[in-house]
Amino acid sequence: MSEYLNDVNGLVIRTIDLQDNDRLLVLFTERYGKVTVYARGSRILKSKHMASSQQFCFSNFSLYKKGDRYWIKEAEPIESFYPLRENLQKMALASYICEVISDVVMEEQADVELLRLTLNSLYAIAKGTIPFVKIKGAFEIRAASILGFMPNVACCNRCAKSSTAYFLDVMNGTILCERCHEEDEALHSKGPLNEYEATHARIICVLPEEVRFAVEYAVTADLKHLLSFPLSAENEHFFAIAGEQYLLNHLERGFKTLDFYKEVNR
Ligand SMILES: [Zn+2]
Repeated sequence: MSEYLNDVNGLVIRTIDLQDNDRLLVLFTERYGKVTVYARGSRILKSKHMASSQQFCFSNFSLYKKGDRYWIKEAEPIESFYPLRENLQKMALASYICEVISDVVMEEQADVELLRLTLNSLYAIAKGTIPFVKIKGAFEIRAASILGFMPNVACCNRCAKSSTAYFLDVMNGTILCERCHEEDEALHSKGPLNEYEATHARIICVLPEEVRFAVEYAVTADLKHLLSFPLSAENEHFFAIAGEQYLLNHLERGFKTLDFYKEVNR
């Protein structure tokens, strides 16, 4: 990357305070993917970078390179997502989303769809009118899909028939209807069917039809309307489990901020 990066729109996904009031920022940028930058004196209240260098702030940056580091020359906030900082539950969910993004986004690898998903999710959390269970689950399913783990949940993977409930095989990203699932369970009761199954856990999540639809919708919907799917209170729990199991198992890791989010909600 060049000595000067101008007109860089980026979301602050992580901040680390350094000596002398300097701060290290990890940005998820539109054009360059993940970029680590240094902000001089950004923790001093009168610093002109103060607002733009806070976590969750989406800003327009001008950067310059000194040595092997990028520093902030100018920064203009575009969207501060201020309400994320005034409520612990909102902050915890936004932090989880940013930790996931920080883990999956690479340097010099732009992903506009993933950035839009992240910004839209933060916007919905900040606004606070849509249940968090929908925002979190839709983010998890869609993020996994963008990262190459798109599930196929249109119909039963074996008989293609419709059913009132389905069973999602997380690692295969496919679903079975109740009848095919029962047959499958009978087969598996005798032991693993192949070498892969002998060394990997089968992770199965129950998807009532409404939740199957919600998952399919989260995979395919235009990001602008990503949260416009129905989800009744009795099915929230199934959607929450499916989203979380799907993302975490495909990324093969857990997140400290997710544990914190759960603690806050307890
Ligand atoms: Zn079937």
